[in-house]
Amino acid sequence: MVDYKSGKPKSWTGKVETQLIKGKFLQLPIYLGLVSAFAEKILNRKVQATDATLRPIREGDEESSPKTLPREFWGTPAAKVFEENLGELIGLIEKGHFYIEPSQGEWGYCTRCDFARICRKEHMPTRKRAENDALRLRVSKKLERSAPKEETKKTALRTPVGTVPNDQ
Ligand code: SF4
Repeated sequence: MVDYKSGKPKSWTGKVETQLIKGKFLQLPIYLGLVSAFAEKILNRKVQATDATLRPIREGDEESSPKTLPREFWGTPAAKVFEENLGELIGLIEKGHFYIEPSQGEWGYCTRCDFARICRKEHMPTRKRAENDALRLRVSKKLERSAPKEETKKTALRTPVGTVPNDQ
């Protein structure tokens, strides 16, 4: 399963599993989880994805290397941490709890956000309240975790060329 990306790649280092736990590249495990059901419904065929890849079409810098997640990921302890975090993020949506998380600069979320004109991110008391939001702090703490170390020795998840092989 390949998702071709035309935007600027997000900078990252370390293991793909750790990035998932931090809430990045969420498409990868979600594609892996959904592709079989999608193919069966649309193509009426039994298909199983061996891996999911984000493949930037821009060339030139080392961040543009693909990020690949094999389907074996789902059997690892890292997947359990990821599932817990995904549950937390879904819980926020279910509660309608959308705190602001400004991400400015040329490639930040705010530049492409449909709500930028009404967002109160420049209102410092609002920003402070968002930063100290109890639910946000709880979820942020969970998103700070890394993939369990012992698991990554057993499971050879692929690390793209040009990245640091172990989390610092
Ligand atoms: S403009 Fe506001 S709502 Fe939109 S991404 Fe930025 S902080 Fe979030």
